[in-house]
Amino acid sequence: MERVAQRCIVCEEERTDGIAICEQFICQQCEQEMVNTDVQDKKYTFFIHQMRRIWLTD
Ligand SMILES: [Zn+2]
Repeated sequence: MERVAQRCIVCEEERTDGIAICEQFICQQCEQEMVNTDVQDKKYTFFIHQMRRIWLTD
């Protein structure tokens, strides 16, 4: 089965491996990074910012 590439909402790269949250796609790389990102890490803030685009679409 061919997998269609989707645009990751975090890194905005088109990838085939990843997860869908609220019909938004997050690639496996970013998902793994998010899981491993410490709350103190500056990157965490970036992820939250990107994630807010999913839930705060209005
Ligand atoms: Zn990504």
